[in-house]
Amino acid sequence: MSLDNTWFTEPMDKTGTAFSLKLGERVHAEQTPYQKIEIYRTETFGHLMVIDGCTMVSTRDNFLYHEMMSHPALYSHPNPRDVVVVGGGDCGTLREVLKHGEVQHATQVEIDERVTRLAEQYFPELCVANGDPRATLFFGDGIAWMKEAAPESLDLIIIDSTDPVGPAEGLFGKKFYVDCLKALRPGGMLVQQSESPLLHIDLIVEMHKAMHDAGFAQTRLLHFPQVIYPSGWWSGSIAQKTAGPLAERLDPATLQTLDTQYYNAEIHRAAFAVPNFVKRALGV
Ligand code: SAM
Repeated sequence: MSLDNTWFTEPMDKTGTAFSLKLGERVHAEQTPYQKIEIYRTETFGHLMVIDGCTMVSTRDNFLYHEMMSHPALYSHPNPRDVVVVGGGDCGTLREVLKHGEVQHATQVEIDERVTRLAEQYFPELCVANGDPRATLFFGDGIAWMKEAAPESLDLIIIDSTDPVGPAEGLFGKKFYVDCLKALRPGGMLVQQSESPLLHIDLIVEMHKAMHDAGFAQTRLLHFPQVIYPSGWWSGSIAQKTAGPLAERLDPATLQTLDTQYYNAEIHRAAFAVPNFVKRALGV
């Protein structure tokens, strides 16, 4: 069956797969100094943001990604006070981070201010926490920002970036991880979106190797569904500065106040369960 121009399609030649959504219409398109951003109105997924042809955020399913890129790592850290989101310009991850009362300061370092301005227009529900006095929106390159970050000033670094091409390429390498490690306090950790366990296991293995080479003591994978991303199954990779079991601060009363759609204590534990092929690939 061929799809006409009433569909948005993201073909992925490398993996021989494609993802499509039935459209209403394209409501915005622009080329920024960094990338091409398009916004579509879809028939069943609300608005869809696409960067350089790749799906980023939809109204309907973004809660999966934003909740899972924030809460598992935040509740795995004993006391996350200072948090940085690298990328994440749609502000959805920042909103979830700021649901945590123990977070004293959260900085979003997004290279492309237009992503945030368009999110404010087409995904206003993701931007509701931008005015929180604990939040700083900084527009600049996350790689340069991390190089300049004060040593041992952060508890958690969340890397919510595009795929490892273009401006995001350097966010997936040892040099960047060395700077992250230096910026983290003892016991600190980073969590980075690491693509599909099914389609991109080689990238995940490379990332974990680069994290260890940079000096991180331990790495882990967490995984969750994400309908609009290749294969519909996505992952985050956690790197710990200090080896040891993760904290599991899953107090039921606190969790209830989070107002999440997907994340809860059972999902938290399930997300860290490692499938056999991933165990074999990562040698764990
Ligand atoms: N959830 C999405 C995914 O996995 O496809 C990512 C969404 S978020 C919109 C990704 C953001 O990373 C983009 O807005 C992009 O501008 C930003 N980004 C890419 N490279 C960056 C860099 N070097 N520094 C800061 N932000 C960067």
